[in-house]
Amino acid sequence: MTTPKPRKSFPKKGRSLTLSNWHIPLSDLDYGSEETMAVQRVLQSKWLSMGPEVQAFEQEFAEFLGVKHAIAVANGTAALHLSYLALGLEPGDEIIQPAINFVAAANMAVAIGVKPVFADIIGLNEPTIDPADIERCISPRTKAVVVMHYGGYPCRMAEIQTICQQYGLVLIEDACHAVGARYLDSQAREPHGNMVGTLGDIACFSFFSNKNLATGEGGLVTTNRDNLAERLRLLRSHGMTTLSWERHKGHASSYDVILHGYNYRLDELRAALGRVQLRKLKRNNSRRQQIVLAYQKHLTPLSGWTVPFWDYLGDSAHHLMALVAPDRETRTHVVKALKQAGIQTSFHYPCLADFTAFRHLTSHDLEQSRLFAQSVITLPLFPTMTTDQVEQVCSHIYEFSSLTKLKDDLH
Ligand SMILES: *Cc1c(COP(=O)(O)O)cnc(C)c1O
Repeated sequence: MTTPKPRKSFPKKGRSLTLSNWHIPLSDLDYGSEETMAVQRVLQSKWLSMGPEVQAFEQEFAEFLGVKHAIAVANGTAALHLSYLALGLEPGDEIIQPAINFVAAANMAVAIGVKPVFADIIGLNEPTIDPADIERCISPRTKAVVVMHYGGYPCRMAEIQTICQQYGLVLIEDACHAVGARYLDSQAREPHGNMVGTLGDIACFSFFSNKNLATGEGGLVTTNRDNLAERLRLLRSHGMTTLSWERHKGHASSYDVILHGYNYRLDELRAALGRVQLRKLKRNNSRRQQIVLAYQKHLTPLSGWTVPFWDYLGDSAHHLMALVAPDRETRTHVVKALKQAGIQTSFHYPCLADFTAFRHLTSHDLEQSRLFAQSVITLPLFPTMTTDQVEQVCSHIYEFSSLTKLKDDLH
């Protein structure tokens, strides 16, 4: 097998500029003429923000999930911020959340004076929040639990829902990895289960460029609770009682301001992109599943390595292909070799408690989170990836494993 070299620089002026100079990028968009046409339609309409496209996107998203309310917002971080505010979290409160997560859920807590309390993950094989550790983190100030469905794999929701009911805590899903995933309660053997985004009081989605449903920037909040939906809509747009679209249509002539809100609106261009991407989501999530199965076939036999969720019985949105190296040094070597072969990787995520801005917060033992954070690698995964590309990635990893025998099988 020839080892491809990464291109040194972006193409010179005059040559077509592709976004990535990686031989195999970490993620790639499935964008085509439908997205172009959707944007053109909005441009021709000359109505650019919070109009019919946003309304249609919200309705279609709510129907897809089987949830009462979907409120489109500027991004996933805004979705989290508004959720905390709509739920009435206040300075001095505590929110329990996983130590392995993107920083947004913790940052938004600090932004409103709420303390993030980090709970450990279950283990290397299942890097989602450990229900037993949630219970250990509960104090008289605890008001909420944030779960994050890592890589698109739903957390242990039945246990977490029980804990939240027992202690009177609100449950927030950071569902940014998991659009389109369904939660199957293995105990109840539910044949159909409920969609991620309907499993707590409120759920947050992101449509950032590398997410399963991508609009560049964008986000959305879902809830079945009418009072929360009303507050979210007000907070999204300055606390104003009517939108400019309603006034434009003649449905309202004036407005009142009934609370202090923000401008976290989504524009029409992105909503139009979101509607196209939503139509492609089921197909693209199952394409991702095929890629993940191909990876698992090659990687699970490697002794000393862990392929998270390889034996997971439920459904997933397959947002990330994570792999845990035997140790930190091996990870460093593999990442370097992959980079030299033009293969892009990432780390999802460092342990939140160890970031400079969070180090002062006292948190208890986060053994599994720290183990995971020091050895996890995120491998390329996107709907248009080929099985040949999967094999290229795996062959480089094999060079660092003891099972050189299996390496030959790939050639
Ligand atoms: C992407 C992401 C966010 C933040 O979303 P933005 O749209 O980038 O603000 C929050 N949490 C998780 C788990 C994410 O993956």
